[in-house]
Amino acid sequence: MPPVETPLNVETPAPAAAAPATRPEGREPLPLAPAGPGQLVMTAPRRGKPPRHFSDLEPAERADALVALGEKPFRARQLATQWFERLEDDTEKMTDLPAASRQRISEALLPTLLTPLRTLSADRGTTVKTLWKLHDGALVESVLMRYPGKDGSAGRNTVCISSQAGCGMNCPFCATGQAGLTRNLSTAEIVEQVAGSARALARDEIAGGPGRVTNVVFMGMGEALANYKSAVAALRRLTQPAPDGLGISARGITMSTVGLVPAMDKFAAEGIPATLALSLHAPDDELRDELVPVNKRWNVAQALDAAKRYFDATGRRVSIEYALIRDINDQAWRADRLGKLLNARGRGWVHVNPIPLNPTPGSKWTASDPAVERAFVAALEARGIPTTVRDTRGSDIDGACGQLAAAPEEPRG
Ligand code: SAH
Repeated sequence: MPPVETPLNVETPAPAAAAPATRPEGREPLPLAPAGPGQLVMTAPRRGKPPRHFSDLEPAERADALVALGEKPFRARQLATQWFERLEDDTEKMTDLPAASRQRISEALLPTLLTPLRTLSADRGTTVKTLWKLHDGALVESVLMRYPGKDGSAGRNTVCISSQAGCGMNCPFCATGQAGLTRNLSTAEIVEQVAGSARALARDEIAGGPGRVTNVVFMGMGEALANYKSAVAALRRLTQPAPDGLGISARGITMSTVGLVPAMDKFAAEGIPATLALSLHAPDDELRDELVPVNKRWNVAQALDAAKRYFDATGRRVSIEYALIRDINDQAWRADRLGKLLNARGRGWVHVNPIPLNPTPGSKWTASDPAVERAFVAALEARGIPTTVRDTRGSDIDGACGQLAAAPEEPRG
């Protein structure tokens, strides 16, 4: 199989209005593994493929898969209704399927991809982090966060999912980045993290009463756009209306990236009205080179231009993620510089989400002072940039942004 999933091989037309590139693309040879400080791993190590699962299949492929098992084609829709709409995961309870077929269907199309090893909860049970073991022993985490509605409105249930076991982007402030990349997840391994939360919510197993998944953020472990094919196929499965998929609105889904420019452009062309988040963390190349090593390949100007093109193509306002690290990137002048860079590309296309740095093991960095954070936000607002400080839900269970390390033993607590 050609390595089509690496963004480095993504063909994109020359950007129309690109800022002058200070670094020609492809200047640096990329090491495969392991990564030293500042190095990137764009191509995931090959490991045994996870077994094929019904969630991997496009609706058009499903009838053939059932026929191959000796079933009638219409069983595909029945199975989809059970799996994605009723969230039934026990074929013995799928009573519209012939009793004699259930086990065969289960073994061939519904292998167990994710086994929960441990769940930790916080916020009175409304934040739940699950550590999953994959078929080959690789570990990933996902986090479900419930936000009650105000004044009788419905509230949100957000699942933060992983797209890779580990991550090759090597951002020094992120626990996942420090562990390196184990492998890409398959489409179904990504989808089933959400299905697992949807099932737990539907079955009233999560504090706050029965509910459904309203939002999904690709902000767990991994750089989803470096696992492009599986991540986008998963996104489609999440948004396909039931019974073809989980029927979650694309507007409730956020794809987060370090700024893989060709993959961002490819994603913009998919025609999916999802939100794109760009993890910027610094407005100047000197600092961003250190905080987000991929900046050496696609710099601040190039990443922001691609973010703006995403807005132009989709009409969806882009989020700029900015972890506030004490005395590193939290100066008001940097907020001002960021505001200028964003306004130079237009108005109303972007908002900024500063988030106090979540501590990670072994890192000397810590969150900014609240007063410094306020000054940072004020400087952005003074330039007319909508700015919302993101909360650090789950930090006490190492479930917050950048803390997912999928350690078999919790490092503390
Ligand atoms: N690879 C994707 C998703 C990773 S995590 C990306 O980089 O966007 C989602 C967000 O959490 C990113 O914005 C990431 O930069 C941020 N993050 C990572 N470590 C963090 C930390 N220690 N504190 C706060 N945010 C962090």
